[in-house]
Amino acid sequence: MQAAIGIDSAKQALKSYFGYDEFRSQQPEIIETILSGRDAIALMPTGGGKSICFQIPAIVMPGTCIVVSPLIALMKDQVEGLLANGVKAAFINSSSHSSENQRVETLAIRGELDLLYVSPEKLLSADFFNLMSQLNINLFAIDEAHCISQWGHDFRPEYVQMGLLKDRFPDIPFLALTATADKLTRRDIEQHLHLRDPQVFVSSFDRPNLSLTVVNGANRATDILKWVKDRPKQSGIIYCLSRKTTESLAAKLIDKGYKADFYHAGMSADRRSQVQEKFIRDDLDIICATIAFGMGIDKSNVRWVVHYNLPKNIESYYQEIGRAGRDGVLSETLFYYTYGDVQQMQSFIEESGQQEILQTKLDRMIQYADAKSCRRQVLLAYFGEQHEGNCGNCDNCKDPKVEIDGTVLAQKALSACIRANEKIGVHMVVDILRGSSNQELKMKGFHLLKTYGAGQDISRRDWIDYIVQLINRGLLEIAYDEGNALKVTPAGREVLFEGRKVFLSKVREYAQQGKPIKVAPAPKPLPSFADALFEKLRQLRKDLADKQGVPPYVIFHDRTLRLMAEEFPTTETQMRQVSGVGDRKYQLYGADFIDAILRFMQDRKLKS
Ligand code: ADP
Ligand code: ZN
Repeated sequence: MQAAIGIDSAKQALKSYFGYDEFRSQQPEIIETILSGRDAIALMPTGGGKSICFQIPAIVMPGTCIVVSPLIALMKDQVEGLLANGVKAAFINSSSHSSENQRVETLAIRGELDLLYVSPEKLLSADFFNLMSQLNINLFAIDEAHCISQWGHDFRPEYVQMGLLKDRFPDIPFLALTATADKLTRRDIEQHLHLRDPQVFVSSFDRPNLSLTVVNGANRATDILKWVKDRPKQSGIIYCLSRKTTESLAAKLIDKGYKADFYHAGMSADRRSQVQEKFIRDDLDIICATIAFGMGIDKSNVRWVVHYNLPKNIESYYQEIGRAGRDGVLSETLFYYTYGDVQQMQSFIEESGQQEILQTKLDRMIQYADAKSCRRQVLLAYFGEQHEGNCGNCDNCKDPKVEIDGTVLAQKALSACIRANEKIGVHMVVDILRGSSNQELKMKGFHLLKTYGAGQDISRRDWIDYIVQLINRGLLEIAYDEGNALKVTPAGREVLFEGRKVFLSKVREYAQQGKPIKVAPAPKPLPSFADALFEKLRQLRKDLADKQGVPPYVIFHDRTLRLMAEEFPTTETQMRQVSGVGDRKYQLYGADFIDAILRFMQDRKLKS
């Protein structure tokens, strides 16, 4: 009889295959549940470490694990990563050649695969059921399990039929995994997959290694140049609302000498996969993309994500920033908030026919952008999770907003609106307050108003920020059906006529006049020795990756390279202690990296 397989052998496999010393929170519990034969549902944020939860049981239990994954790119990526770690894995999907699928089937039947990845369409085919009946299956892992829910954003009809699978294989454990946490989705997963009394694991959705910063986007066109300049050679994604912006922004960056490109759904599939591939292989540093980009990309060393425009809701925002820092290394996120974007989003909503839901979601997004307290707390509260705040890694924690008495300021703005008969929008209000000599203003006679020039001491950009705050505080309202004219609400009238006080947050300084961006410092630089060594090792990694035709992070994650650069291991024992160096990786690359470190140290005349 086979000895029971427990968490100890799981831990050994974690070290020898993946080079990691410890499980992350909930991984051991999930793995134990699977090893005991029970079904489970695991909800973890992107980058939380879901894959290990089925990969380890698949390795330590006899037989093969069937992994259902809806995204072919992701399947390919995972299999590539597993093979590089010496794990026997393969995938079958309808896009591969039949000879390749044949080869994989043969391997599976011979029992030579620990993991077999398959698309849901393929899974449900008669052929595949036939193949499965010849295999010793130890686990079914259903990745992206939220695709089963009609309530969710990625509903896939094939997923609903997957209940058949559990009916056909009632005694094999199922693990459903997703990064979507809401209760409705969870219930759908349990019911539609026909899971039997599954144990549900809900991890924290916090990603503490991601910094959160929201800035006024009035000068984003120039601010972004400074942002990328401060982050040389780092991989980053800039999310834009329109295809046109992705193209013009990429052109501007290329013109400045950056390795950048654009990505959107209007490009041919070939061109898109070309851009994606170059980004994954570190041949491109910056991608300017619409939200079409990112699904199914597992690139672990994305160091920053910028929202050049307002995301449409918090779910998308969180998913998009989640593409940064999957390797756990400190990574940055920046969101340029502008009034113009709110207006534009608003007009999309008017046209959509689903006003109520979309409006509520947009309002929550704006509340987040406008938050004065810890952003992480606000964000996690949206997903129903309590966080005590003071995260220390968001702009509001690092540089608390200063509250000012904005009564006089508000009165000036409100008065300008009323004197112009509440028929003007934000920009005209600011023109009046700043005493602009714009033609239209003069034609309408606004230069004769009492408030004309009453706010010259405040910059245009700051005025817009303050007016947006007045809107968010319910003192002004936008009449979308009247060309976005601003209307003073009853509360606004109290401020104007009854002396009601208004408190506003002082607009922060952002990278003005070449000043460094105070609120979003680049991650703490490594000491120069480690920095230089990191660059050397990165180059070595890139060369090896290109030779083998794999993405660099498949060789080692950034985090592993950083550890090497800080600890400079020069013996086998030292090298094997570095997190991320498993047996296979040591055999393949250990000597090359030790050599590079020794050479570097010799150059620097340092003795090990
Ligand atoms: P998810 O599928 O949840 O988005 P992954 O499974 O891709 O996340 O894991 C994210 C990253 O964390 C990967 O680079 C993975 O190698 C790493 N990781 C997972 N578990 C551990 C662990 N126990 N120790 C160190 N790194 C881990
Ligand atoms: Zn915070």
